[in-house]
Amino acid sequence: MSDTLEHLKHELAVASRILDVSGATSAFGHISVRLPGEDAFLIPAARAAGLVRPEDVLVVGMDGQRRAGEGTMFVETPIHAAAYRLRPDVQSVAHTHSEMCVALSVADVEPYPAHMTAYRYYDGVPIHPEGRMLTNAAMAEAAIAAMGARNAVLLKWHGAIVVAPTLHWACLGAVLLEYNARLLVHARQLGATSFFPREHSLEMFAAYEGDEGTQAYHREWDYWVERVRQANGGDLFHLHGAYEPVSPRVLRPD
Ligand SMILES: [Zn+2]
Repeated sequence: MSDTLEHLKHELAVASRILDVSGATSAFGHISVRLPGEDAFLIPAARAAGLVRPEDVLVVGMDGQRRAGEGTMFVETPIHAAAYRLRPDVQSVAHTHSEMCVALSVADVEPYPAHMTAYRYYDGVPIHPEGRMLTNAAMAEAAIAAMGARNAVLLKWHGAIVVAPTLHWACLGAVLLEYNARLLVHARQLGATSFFPREHSLEMFAAYEGDEGTQAYHREWDYWVERVRQANGGDLFHLHGAYEPVSPRVLRPD
């Protein structure tokens, strides 16, 4: 296995666990990264984001078909394939069932930056009126088309899709989108809301988007990695063991 592949699998597993520990998603949700130089991307096999280990990561082609790796694939893998096909600028995709993002979608409230750290959503986050699972290319492409050139789209009654120029920014972008949604829900309960000015968001976007060399980036990433470590008893990818059901479980192959 190449160093790049090994490194990306490790970082993808860390990013998955950050989505869980941060509250951006729970049992459902996944993050992927484009494989450099290949017509393919990396995505974990279907397991909760908080349980992903590097060895769970699959290689999937842009047609949504498995190229390498073992384990059941997420039925919403087409979301990732569609985003990479339709957005050549995108290097990483996160799909979450973020609680406050869903709340805003149910209320038809399109989020704009309520906090300055959500600057990458300067043109808002459209709400795509499709709450079903996006299990095929046509459904996934419709959601990505609704996002347009923006960096996220909400799926009504369902969750969010976040795209970014790096794996780390897709992960942090999903965390910040949910944080921003939570602030917006609180603010709306207090009355009228206002948003961080678009020109200020654009200034920050130009300065920071995809930049992994800033102090703020390292402070944020290092914080969440340590939170994952603490949640796992010191070991980033620790699992306390498989759940043993009292009676055999019958699972459909999805
Ligand atoms: Zn979903």
